Amino acid sequence: MPNTLSSPSQQVVHRLNVKWWGWGDPSKSYDLENHKTFLKFLQDRLHCSGDVVQQPVTVDSMKFSPAKADAAFVQSLIGIFGVENVHLDDMDRFLHSFGKGYLDLIRAWKGTPEGLPDVVVYPANEAQITRLFDLSTKWGFVVVPYGGATTVVRGVSARTGDNKVVLCLDFRLMNQVLNIDEKSFLAEVQPGCLGPELERALNSVGLTLGHFPNHSSSQASVGG
Ligand SMILES: Cc1cc2nc3c(=O)[nH]c(=O)nc-3n(C[C@H](O)[C@H](O)[C@H](O)COP(=O)(O)OP(=O)(O)OC[C@H]3O[C@@H](n4cnc5c(N)ncnc54)[C@H](O)[C@@H]3O)c2cc1C
Repeated sequence: MPNTLSSPSQQVVHRLNVKWWGWGDPSKSYDLENHKTFLKFLQDRLHCSGDVVQQPVTVDSMKFSPAKADAAFVQSLIGIFGVENVHLDDMDRFLHSFGKGYLDLIRAWKGTPEGLPDVVVYPANEAQITRLFDLSTKWGFVVVPYGGATTVVRGVSARTGDNKVVLCLDFRLMNQVLNIDEKSFLAEVQPGCLGPELERALNSVGLTLGHFPNHSSSQASVGG
């Protein structure tokens, strides 16, 4: 059973039909029965049951620290991005706290929340982002941009330790290829555009990005 999310924003969170707790097609699973050594490694060294490899943890089984965002600050965010694009629910915060590094993967398997943003917003245009930064004169906050979350160096995990609100800026709604100049080979692309989306647009005018083989670029964004 690949999806046990209970987040109200789960439609937004599932950008691609890929595992959020692993890599690739959610309908494919790893046969641990025939990989007993790996199963033993998981159990003895990583203190994970084999189950976690096949299916995600449930949000109910995790303990979250409350989001720090002040109500007035959240209202200002809603004023900019719209209520449907401002998320403070635990699962959305959790899903925006890790990339695809091995330590991240283990945290996702075990459902160990760490480095969560306090609030996740989905900008639709540059003007909204400008308005967001205008808010920083009133409220100090940390911004963590979020593209395809294929980082293997914990690039999207928020550093905790001070009292600043951490805001994750997820660029998935800004995924358009705005212009392709076929003479100069320059393209104007929004930051949330994923590798395959850009490749398709370039192919339509007889060009290619040339990013082959495309292991991570199948999920990585131009901005990331
Ligand atoms: C299987 C696999 C293979 C990989 N192969 C390679 C490889 O061959 N070469 C390579 O270089 N990397 C590789 N990577 C690492 C990763 O895919 C790249 O670093 C990729 O560019 C990250 O893009 P992303 O959209 O997923 O960014 P994210 O993981 O979302 O973010 C990466 C960093 O960029 C920041 N960021 C995201 N969007 C923006 C934005 N719009 N503006 C400013 N900052 C932003 C984030 O805050 C974070 O710090 C691989 C990863 C995996 C899982």
